[in-house]
Formats: sequence, structure tokens, C-alpha cells
Amino acid sequence: DSSLHELDPDVAAAVDAELHRQQSTLEMIASENFAPVAVMEAQGSVLTNKYAEGYPGRRYYGGCEHVDVVERIAIDRIKELFGAEAANVQPHSGAQANAAAMFALIKPGDTILGLNLAHGGHLTHGMKINFSGKLYHVVPYHVDEKTSLVDMDEVERLAREHRPKLIVAGWSAYPRQLDFAAFRRIADEVGAYLMVDMAHFAGLVATGLHPNPVPYAHVVTTTTHKTLGGPRGGVILSTQELAKKINSAVFPGQQGGPLEHVIAAKAVSFKIAASAEFKERQQRTLDGARILAERLVQPDVTEAGVSVLSGGTDVHLVLVDLRNSELDGQQAEDRLHEVGITVNRNAVPNDPRPPMVTSGLRIGTPALATRGFDADDFREVADVIAEALKPVYDAESLKARVAALTAKHPLYPTL
Ligand code: PLP
Repeated sequence: DSSLHELDPDVAAAVDAELHRQQSTLEMIASENFAPVAVMEAQGSVLTNKYAEGYPGRRYYGGCEHVDVVERIAIDRIKELFGAEAANVQPHSGAQANAAAMFALIKPGDTILGLNLAHGGHLTHGMKINFSGKLYHVVPYHVDEKTSLVDMDEVERLAREHRPKLIVAGWSAYPRQLDFAAFRRIADEVGAYLMVDMAHFAGLVATGLHPNPVPYAHVVTTTTHKTLGGPRGGVILSTQELAKKINSAVFPGQQGGPLEHVIAAKAVSFKIAASAEFKERQQRTLDGARILAERLVQPDVTEAGVSVLSGGTDVHLVLVDLRNSELDGQQAEDRLHEVGITVNRNAVPNDPRPPMVTSGLRIGTPALATRGFDADDFREVADVIAEALKPVYDAESLKARVAALTAKHPLYPTL
């Protein structure tokens, strides 16, 4: 059998170049992480060859005895990690997990409440041309203009007025914790299901560094590749009562054959997520985000019109507000890219600039924490970012500081 390099040098060269990019830059996209080699080994295994429609012990194909073992391990580990009664580890992605959960709980045309995309919600929480916006009647809730916090008075008012069948709590760009108990109280009052999408903060929850939504929500969805640090994929946690409906919504409702190689990789990442080392890493993730937020509210940067939404962070990311800066989101993203830091521009609530430009940045610390960055390293990263966002900056010296940081923490040294 030929190796990838022998068989397909074109694809191999692009993969090598991507490895080099990850090694030589500072990855600060809040939804990204570096999967451990053992996780990638499982994902690159012969399990990719196996059809296994159905669930462990109840498959529609022969020869599933070994993938059954793998899938049961994954289910048991994630139930234990989050204290959930039931888990479905088959969703191919976070979006598919959300689609299946909604498919299980509500009918097309039903009303859902979700955080508006421009205020930090995800596409699958009701964006107009997403399946969620097309299939359901969406009533968006928002963050308060002054505090940048989710306006729970508005959630309550909208729930009473529109009587949704489902309330979605969760976010892709929000620097604080949600009040799950308040969401559940409102859901119960109007007879709605509560679905929490913890895709972004699942790693923090797994280590007790963020409140766990599982005791409050009927259904909790997550991705496995963000703070959780595993392979790209999705998971649905639920009560035992809803487990049958969820399973049937995933298969045959949404998907065909599960990706058992990815499920194996998920299982490995859940084992890692239960370790003391992982908890320590999540703590460095949080510390790093706090250090960054504190640096970006110092007078030397606020003078340039830079500030931080909600004034700080309780999670793994910071939302930089550039509404008063001469730099727009695109320019700021490009500038950080120039010095070797990868982030994404992000609309701020009521953004005066167009969506392709924006007035904000979303900057996250999970990938660098995985790389081993500690508080001192994050202070240096924060300072480089602060310098880069000023009207006058010295790109060459900032590049050198980034290079020193990447050299100090080698990534994938064995690859
Ligand atoms: N839910 C939230 C809150 C997310 O932020 C994301 C990804 O950005 C998703 C779901 C979707 O995950 P995926 O990209 O795996 O479909």
C-alpha cells in the first residue's frame, strides 16, 4: 500500500503545509483546538471502513462486534463526564446534533426561541436560511445593549408572548455564563423544552469550571472539537425519557451510517477530558482569556478605541469591540494575521459595519492552552495583540515575539 506522500503528493503537500501553519502561528480562533495524536490515530483507523447503521447491540449490518465496543465506551464515558442519563455519540457535527435534537422534540412550524446570530447565537439557533430558520418559526432574543449580557427579561417576555415549543440556550460568541436555572424556569412556565447547546464551553463544564447545564436542560448538545479538544463531531445528551426519540431522530431521522472511527476518537478524547491534566489545561484556558481581556482594557489600547464586550470574560474567549476604533474587524483580523496570530472577525451587537467587515474580533485561548501556554505566555500574547491593534505598530518585532512563543511550545513534535 502506498503512503499518502507517494500516492498523492498534491494532497500530502497541502496537509504538510497546514501542519506547518498550525506549528508556526498562534491559533486563537475560539472554536478551534489541537486534537491529541492518539485521537487522530483513532480517527485515522480501519474503523472508517465499517457500516454500523443502528445502535450497539441493534445494528442493521453484520460484523459490528468491535465497533459496538467502541461506541459503548464512548457513550459510557460521556454520560459519566457530564452526569447525563443518556447519550447519542453519532451526530457527525454540532449542526447535525442540533438538527436531530430539534427533529426529536418539535414539529416543523413550531416556535423556537434562540439567541440572535448577530448577538452571539449559532446559525442552527434560528438563522433565516439555516434549516432551523426555514423549518421553525423563530423568535430571536438578544443581549442588552448596555451590559452585553443576555436579556433574561426579554427571554421571559418573548416566551410568555409567543409560547415557544423549544427554547435554545447556548452561543458561539458570548463571553459570560448563562443562567440555566432561569432558562428552565421560563421553559417550564410556558411548557417548552429547554435545549442547551454547550458546544463552545463543554470542556469547561467537563472540568467543573463552568456550571453544568445537564441538570437543567431536557437536552444538551455539544461539539467535541472545541474546548473539549477531541475530533470534529457532535453529541446529544438527554434524559432517559427522551433517549429513544433522540436516537431515532439521529438514525434513521437525520443520518445513515455512523462514523465509527470518529466515535472511537471521541471516546479517546472523553478519557482525556476526565484527567487531571485536562482540568489544569482548562484552567489555563480561562486564565489566558482573563489575562487577554484585562490587557485589552488598559488605557493605551482604549485610547485607540479598542474595548472588550461586557468588560471581561468568564469563559475561553474575549469579544473585542472595535466600534470606536479606526480599524474594522477585517482590518484587525488581517493585522493579527500579518504578525502570525489567527483570529476571526465577529459582528458585535448592533454592529454599524456590514457583516463581511464587522466591528469586532473573537479571540479564544483553548488551542494555545493545549499547546502548553501558561499565564506568563498569555501575558506576552495579550501584549502582542494590544500592540498590533494600535494605530502605529511594528510588524517585524511583533512577528519575532510570536516566533519566540511558537518555538517555546512546539506543536506535534512527532509528526
Ligand atoms: N453550536 C454552536 C454553539 C457552535 O458554535 C457551533 C460551531 O461553530 C455549532 C453548534 C456547529 O458545530 P459544527 O460546526 O460541528 O456543525
